Amino acid sequence: MKRFYIILGLALLLFTACSSNKGEVKENPYKLEIIATTDAYLESVKQDSTNILIDLEKYIPGIVLDIRYADTNNFTKSKIYTLPKAYLRKPAADSLLKIQKILAGKGLGLKVYDAYRPYAATLYFYKVYPDTTFVAAPWKGSIHNRGCAVDLSIIDLKTGTELKMPTTFDSFTDQASHNCMEIDSTAMANRSLLKEVMLSHGFTLYDAEWWHYNLKQRDNYKLMNLSFEELEAINNK
Ligand SMILES: [Zn+2]
Repeated sequence: MKRFYIILGLALLLFTACSSNKGEVKENPYKLEIIATTDAYLESVKQDSTNILIDLEKYIPGIVLDIRYADTNNFTKSKIYTLPKAYLRKPAADSLLKIQKILAGKGLGLKVYDAYRPYAATLYFYKVYPDTTFVAAPWKGSIHNRGCAVDLSIIDLKTGTELKMPTTFDSFTDQASHNCMEIDSTAMANRSLLKEVMLSHGFTLYDAEWWHYNLKQRDNYKLMNLSFEELEAINNK
């Protein structure tokens, strides 16, 4: 019996060692500079107040969230986020606030599919879909991980219906590209409307995906791996 407990003890020890190793590798296998703790994030905000990640739902009246990675309705077919939240750094959130006001004048508004994305999700995405056209290279990290990229579309404010676009969100096809002209004129006009309003407010586009925009001034924002729970805990303090 004693021998059984010793073997059990050794097995448990081995299991714990393996899982903690796995944990380390999983979080930062490419040894990138990543803000991964609440303290480090708060310190970065102290140094530069624009580092703050803004809760878009609270900050932008009427903005609609459809956070696909908090559901199974995404290319991984699994729930990646435990909370359906959209956060962006302050300058990006300010720009979206202005854009929302401009669109509201036309009876339109923004719908966000994804914004800040913890680095752990970028690691996982590449595992599921190892193609760096549509999924960020984990050895560099995604601009979403910097809180400076947003995936979004336009809706009719009254009905909440999405305007017709060339493809659905995360359609990893040639039709999703800004360069694709073989689409109907309504979808093309809506894609242009989103593009014009985003480009005139400090964002740049990504050729391969009509829904993805990057903040132009993004170089100073570090990659982050804080979970939505951690961000919520800070915000609700
Ligand atoms: Zn994106």
